[in-house]
Amino acid sequence: MDINIAEYNFSEQKVDFDSIDYIELPAICPHCNNTGIQEFVTGALVEDNTESRNGYFPEPIFVIQKFNIITCCFFCKMYSTNIITHQFNTVNKLSTQSIEFTYPKYEQINNEPPQNIKDEYPDFYNIWKEATKAKNSGLHNLAGMGYRKSIEFLTTDYLLKNPIEGVETNWITNPKTTLKKKIDKLDKPRLVTLGKAIAYLGNDETHYTRIHEDYSIDDLINFIDLFISEIERDLKYKKAEELVNRPKK
Ligand SMILES: [Zn+2]
Repeated sequence: MDINIAEYNFSEQKVDFDSIDYIELPAICPHCNNTGIQEFVTGALVEDNTESRNGYFPEPIFVIQKFNIITCCFFCKMYSTNIITHQFNTVNKLSTQSIEFTYPKYEQINNEPPQNIKDEYPDFYNIWKEATKAKNSGLHNLAGMGYRKSIEFLTTDYLLKNPIEGVETNWITNPKTTLKKKIDKLDKPRLVTLGKAIAYLGNDETHYTRIHEDYSIDDLINFIDLFISEIERDLKYKKAEELVNRPKK
């Protein structure tokens, strides 16, 4: 694709534009992590180095150019700055390119839940995946609602799989039983605290008036990670318990 690159012309003291076709634009967005060509907005040549080998070849062997390219993303409508180095070998005509720096830095993709959680709680995992997809596309309202829903499924299935005295299956599965009431029944204080925090922040993403201004979707995701790891520890512990309590042969 042809792009117009700005370059300062020192002798005439003005900016020149040069149309070039050899730059490969970045293909992943550092804001939303979506894959897809980042659209060219503007760019400038910031370094132009040539290297020759003892005059053996009349022409420089390598032409190394550095560009500052600003791109934007179709998915999240955000801009990024990229320093791209392009090296051209004038002898074999091959070129290589590397992206040396991108601003903002690539966001860490959310940690996938551990395999045993995915296996044990597939409904939770499916909703979690959709919420994460929404979050990575910059759709934070949808993501917040999705994460809240994912925790509702995880809490409900956890209560069904780990029967607690006095908590009836009919009550757990009754649509009138609120998430908060179910969280209150969880058998570990840390799960109750984390579950409530997730429900509060999830509600904030869902409701018209935001109550907890000082917390963000990233806090919500951190609390979910902790909630999951508490349950995961439990699953691992149960496996050890099964082994120890196995009838001796
Ligand atoms: Zn994006």
